[in-house]
Amino acid sequence: MMCMYCKGGELIESTTTHVVKYKGSLIIVENVPCLECDQCGETYFSDDVAKRLEEIVNSVKKLATKISIIDYANAA
Ligand SMILES: [Zn+2]
Repeated sequence: MMCMYCKGGELIESTTTHVVKYKGSLIIVENVPCLECDQCGETYFSDDVAKRLEEIVNSVKKLATKISIIDYANAA
């Protein structure tokens, strides 16, 4: 699979930290599985992971904590 961003790099399986800013609070999800370009560093999520991330972020938004750090693998 090739990178759609730089069109030259190759995508390798990796993990990344997903950060969302929401109404002055910060939601940090660690260890999110992704594909990362070995050339430009652009990251891509699969549909499943993107959907799951949205669920995690939405559930954390309700808590209204200033800073939340969630491990993707351990998220309920
Ligand atoms: Zn790239």
